Amino acid sequence: MQLRYSFRLYPNGPQRSALARAFGCARVVYNDALRARETARAAGGAFPKTGDLSKLLITEAKLTEERAWLGEVSSVVLQQSLRDLDAAYRNFFDSLKGKRPRMGTPRFKSRKDNRQAVRFTANARWKITTGGDLSLPKIGDVRVKWSRNLPSVPSTVTVIKDAAGRYFASFVVETEPVTLAESDQAVGIDLGLGHFAVLSDGTKIDAPCFLRRAGKKLKRAQQALSRKAKGSNNRDKARVKVARAHAQVADARREFHHQLSTRLIRDNQAVAVEDLAVKGLARTRLAKSVHDAGWSAFVTMLEYKAAKFGRGFHRIGRFEPTSQVCSQCGVKDGPKPLHIRVWECGACGAVLDRDINAAVNVAKAAGLAVSACGARIRPGLIPAQRGEAGTHRDGQPTVVGIPGL
Ligand SMILES: [Zn+2]
Repeated sequence: MQLRYSFRLYPNGPQRSALARAFGCARVVYNDALRARETARAAGGAFPKTGDLSKLLITEAKLTEERAWLGEVSSVVLQQSLRDLDAAYRNFFDSLKGKRPRMGTPRFKSRKDNRQAVRFTANARWKITTGGDLSLPKIGDVRVKWSRNLPSVPSTVTVIKDAAGRYFASFVVETEPVTLAESDQAVGIDLGLGHFAVLSDGTKIDAPCFLRRAGKKLKRAQQALSRKAKGSNNRDKARVKVARAHAQVADARREFHHQLSTRLIRDNQAVAVEDLAVKGLARTRLAKSVHDAGWSAFVTMLEYKAAKFGRGFHRIGRFEPTSQVCSQCGVKDGPKPLHIRVWECGACGAVLDRDINAAVNVAKAAGLAVSACGARIRPGLIPAQRGEAGTHRDGQPTVVGIPGL
């Protein structure tokens, strides 16, 4: 399977300039090609081929005065930029055919975009030096912080600059699945708005405080930015602070997702989650909390870690009414408004925690054997066994059906 590994890069001054040039040239070629294709489409002409665009917008353009500077960067970077545009068009045409959610035509790239990136393939002859630097053509040997080992030699590296001005090298590498000791546990996961996640064993997981702290810092930075006069130097400085705070929130969230997904995959032989149509939810007023929670990124992590460690991963379709069915007796009890956190099953009388009940149902829908006890705050009134009803122990009456909670 293929996994993406990212490492922080620390380019020096001249290398930062060279990278800025590479980002700029890749962007210009991308925009030139996009313009050529959109003009042809508007005129009803044939869709310009990638090979022709490469010849016209890279090879021949380098010979002209106004595009001569394209020669200052690795031509692989420019070729890869055309490939990115091809991928963007492929997605767009697939969306027209209904193969994926509807989307617009590819967008022009801007110098002000939050993320700038260039890609070097094996053709570019980039390499990792014996000293551990990342050697990039026409840029130089860039210092890397190797936070972990690469499992195999990657053929391609993408260099990224984010909104906070940080640089990263991102490699796609082939990895072998790792085998973990078998576990006899399985778990259903309900991703909720009240808690980040609720597990079928009754565990409720909130976002950790380091994530909330980063969120508060971001809010303060945004408020400070809104107070600065437009066009002022202070506003520019405040904008960088907001970008940094954003990056910190994103990092903290990724870290939390990694820790939780690793734990769930390590402890369980199989996990099941509900397939949230996050896109549908994201258009509602719940949008903000959905984006904050970053569920889809978390579910993606669970899925690839399950594949990596040979664990089962199940995604349950939305048609399963997980919050309406009693996990104890299986009777569908009708829709429940969001504010109802605890409900009593009309059929068996069990009193259920909404979220845990949903998590148990997710696990059951995936065919996982989980205990349903966690969902139950109070079981229904089951006919008492002979000799149990009404007996006294230590002078305390035994109340049938209510365990020591
Ligand atoms: Zn029931």
